[in-house]
Amino acid sequence: MSAITGSGVQLSDEQRGLLDLAEDLGARFGRRAARYDLEAGFPYENYDDMREAGLLKLCVPKAYGGLGADLFTYALVSATLGKYCGATSLTFNMHACSCLWPGLMADALEMTAGQREEHERHRASHFQHIVEGGAVYAHPFSEGSAAAAGRAPFGTTASKVDGGWLLDGKKIFASLSGAADYYGVLCTEHRTGDDAPSMRDSIYLAVPRNAPGFTIVGDWDPLGMRGTVSRTLLLKEVFVPDSGQMMPRGIYFQAANRWPHMFSALSPTYMGIALAAYEFTVQYLRGEVAGMDPPVKRRMHPTKQIATAQMHILLEQTRAIFLRSFSEARIDPPREMRLRAYAAHFTVMENANEITRLAIRTCGGQSMLRSLPLERLYRDSRCGSLMLPWTAELCLDRIGREALYEPGEADD
Ligand SMILES: Cc1cc2nc3c(=O)[nH]c(=O)nc-3n(C[C@H](O)[C@H](O)[C@H](O)COP(=O)(O)OP(=O)(O)OC[C@H]3O[C@@H](n4cnc5c(N)ncnc54)[C@H](O)[C@@H]3O)c2cc1C
Repeated sequence: MSAITGSGVQLSDEQRGLLDLAEDLGARFGRRAARYDLEAGFPYENYDDMREAGLLKLCVPKAYGGLGADLFTYALVSATLGKYCGATSLTFNMHACSCLWPGLMADALEMTAGQREEHERHRASHFQHIVEGGAVYAHPFSEGSAAAAGRAPFGTTASKVDGGWLLDGKKIFASLSGAADYYGVLCTEHRTGDDAPSMRDSIYLAVPRNAPGFTIVGDWDPLGMRGTVSRTLLLKEVFVPDSGQMMPRGIYFQAANRWPHMFSALSPTYMGIALAAYEFTVQYLRGEVAGMDPPVKRRMHPTKQIATAQMHILLEQTRAIFLRSFSEARIDPPREMRLRAYAAHFTVMENANEITRLAIRTCGGQSMLRSLPLERLYRDSRCGSLMLPWTAELCLDRIGREALYEPGEADD
């Protein structure tokens, strides 16, 4: 039985094997998590372990030597890692998305024969970096504007030049900064003429870490998710060869509109955090947390029992919609599924924070000491609903609008 799914969810042998692997690796990551958090340092050792175990190729299609995981399998693996180390799971999301967008998602998109042929060539080289070279990809799209919310074109531009592209701009909150081998940067294709920049001209390009003109700046000393090392990227006339295209021109826009569940790929990390906080609370109240001297049982107090019940109910509600939404992820989901995807994302992000809050209140004063993981889970959980494009506010905004208006409908 997987801790993430609980019993009653049918998993294939392959999925079960991957979850066992994630549990084994996660146990090691859990022992290192406090140090990375304290130092706000990137979990390099965890990535070495994942590379060695073959997990970096989880979402690379099988035809390219990967494990071919779909979005549901990815979500279960990521949530399992998230139970032990939020920063590792969240950064793994960035890498996994860099495989899923040009991989499984692109397979279902419409492309001309020419675009398809070009894409096969380009993605073969990206997947080779990962499968044979053990490369890690970052996924920086945020710019501090409405672009990452999906409401405006990216301000970072890509101009077509002979044999490739020249990139100019800035990305903020780039997780894996300094640690990634490639940065899958979303840009707007710069066109000469009077046309205003358009989101349809988004282009997705992989910048190698050592590309001239590419620099990483700024501090990283945040509240939570400290091991993600999400610093600022500056791009000044950075040349990326044509083979650096993660998707053909114009295809990212189609993908972003037709695959909404992809924007929820961050949430498994927070599902894992919610589960970890609940499991810790049960252990703590039973007096079974290692290193507590003396171990004290607190479970006999009715108030603790009620709080545990509240956490349990929240956790089960969260898990139910999480599993349902990821299990139905597909291209062009009907409206009902699209709304459920927003609702699931909102629920996971908000409830993870609520469950960790209840956990600290219930376990009591000693549980917020840095020697125990709860205060880190609490701080990490706070980040989820801030993350674009599906922040908690934007999920509400989308649900409200899309529930009340048919596509294209407007008021007089
Ligand atoms: C730990 C961590 C790691 C991250 N890693 C990455 C990464 O690897 N790659 C990456 O690209 N980003 C990453 N992000 C950035 C994240 O996705 C957001 O882009 C970032 O948190 C936005 O910060 P901001 O202050 O610019 O928020 P703002 O964009 O100012 O948003 C503030 C709030 O305003 C609302 N809002 C914003 N735009 C609109 C709009 N157009 N319409 C209505 N409401 C709106 C949203 O609800 C949002 O919560 C990371 C963030 C965190 C916390």
